[in-house]
Amino acid sequence: MLLPKFDYHAPATAAEACDILAERGDKARVIAGGTDLMVNMKKGVVCPAEVVSIADIAELKEMAGENGHVRIGACVTVADLAESDLVAGKLSALRAGSRALGTPLVRNRATIGGNVGSARPAADLPPSLMVYGAEVRVTNKSGERTVAIGEFFKGPGMTIMAADDLITGFKIPVPPPAAGAGYINIGVRKAQDCNLVNVCSYIELAGDDTIKTARVVLGCVGPTHLRASSAEKVLVGEKPDDALFARAGEAAMGDCTPILDFRGSAEYRRAMVGVLTRRTLAKALKEARDRA
Ligand SMILES: Cc1cc2nc3c(=O)[nH]c(=O)nc-3n(C[C@H](O)[C@H](O)[C@H](O)COP(=O)(O)OP(=O)(O)OC[C@H]3O[C@@H](n4cnc5c(N)ncnc54)[C@H](O)[C@@H]3O)c2cc1C
Repeated sequence: MLLPKFDYHAPATAAEACDILAERGDKARVIAGGTDLMVNMKKGVVCPAEVVSIADIAELKEMAGENGHVRIGACVTVADLAESDLVAGKLSALRAGSRALGTPLVRNRATIGGNVGSARPAADLPPSLMVYGAEVRVTNKSGERTVAIGEFFKGPGMTIMAADDLITGFKIPVPPPAAGAGYINIGVRKAQDCNLVNVCSYIELAGDDTIKTARVVLGCVGPTHLRASSAEKVLVGEKPDDALFARAGEAAMGDCTPILDFRGSAEYRRAMVGVLTRRTLAKALKEARDRA
């Protein structure tokens, strides 16, 4: 399959990219690493007349810790996230998601902005970004706005973004002491496969060792990544133990709406939601206790 013909733009700044997007409207498409867009263009799923490359815009590749947050530019690659000491030290579940994504070849090109921008319900980075309460910075010619990542996705491949919007980065609160998170994904094969189910859990402990805050995010079992709100209700205010995590896993199974496809049955996916919720909660608890 050959790529269709298109005009190529390589702006040097985010402002220049926004000018081009404002002028061209939905004729143009942003490309970062191209690991998703190129595949879709070859398949004929999308056929933009103009492609705007943001891969070499230096300001979109910055990553820093500041005032209780980690700021990550949209064009930071997944390989850089997986290797970053800042991410490893403060956002371990984002690191786990980055290490689980694709292969070294894919991770070297793929960006965090592209992973979120493609809005696949099976993507590896949104679950941890959601449990940490990340904000997405979205810019266009008229200015910048921030959107809570939980409100960013509208359906498979659909987001709140307009054609002239550019994701410039993410602002992620650093979890307080006594908080931790865990991420696990499963696919049919160990590598180079789309996830079958992925789950990320986050808990923060209160001084009396009860759970003060709980967030559980499920992937591949609905039109977007979704919060398992019944599971979260089971957890808050309780002392954490295996029996509680098993009850939360049962509740999470009721929170999802899996479908049958060639990768697995709906029943299997639902059962795995229960298992992965339990296991990610155990990981989150261990990290919360280690950081207390
Ligand atoms: C072999 C293979 C294996 C893969 N395995 C996985 C996997 O295990 N887990 C997983 O989650 N994904 C996987 N993917 C999908 C893909 O690699 C990731 O989603 C990747 O993070 C996309 O990033 P990118 O920079 O390449 O995005 P691109 O392909 O450049 O863009 C993807 C989409 O997002 C839009 N976009 C990109 N950046 C921005 C921005 N800053 N602002 C606005 N819109 C933007 C583009 O217009 C496009 O619609 C795989 C892909 C391949 C080819």
